[in-house]
Amino acid sequence: MTTGIQIEQKADVFFIKGVLDEYADLSPLLDKPAPLRLDLRGLTRLNSIGIRNMLKFLAGWGDKPLIYEHCTSEFIDQVSMIPALLGIKKQGTIASLYVPYECNSCDHEEDIYRELPQYSEALKSGVWPKEVCKKCGTDMQVISDTFFAFVASKDT
Ligand SMILES: [Zn+2]
Repeated sequence: MTTGIQIEQKADVFFIKGVLDEYADLSPLLDKPAPLRLDLRGLTRLNSIGIRNMLKFLAGWGDKPLIYEHCTSEFIDQVSMIPALLGIKKQGTIASLYVPYECNSCDHEEDIYRELPQYSEALKSGVWPKEVCKKCGTDMQVISDTFFAFVASKDT
């Protein structure tokens, strides 16, 4: 049974895989060149001590540019609650993420991969990109109204 995270580099992207917990050590990333690109799709779980480890890393990283890619919906929920996860100056960018959708007619749930700029427009206009349920063909809704709260936290 493995705990903690593995960090894998492909080109200039660092893939964070595994569990963000008390064993997660992000310090090997401290001396990497900015902007730091972190791909989080392999993050299976996280807990509060792991988040604290991440904040410790971000304090060390300072105000240098930082880009998160393929963020899991669980990570996005954390960012909405703890804006400091975007860096000490909130300088971090969410480039892409998995948006949790649900179908009202058949209860099918699905995390759908999206690049954030598509939603910046949606958030301004109030018109959401439509997603169709694969199981029954009905339109699906974003599960939580507050899912995109982190976007607003960036502007403050
Ligand atoms: Zn459905």
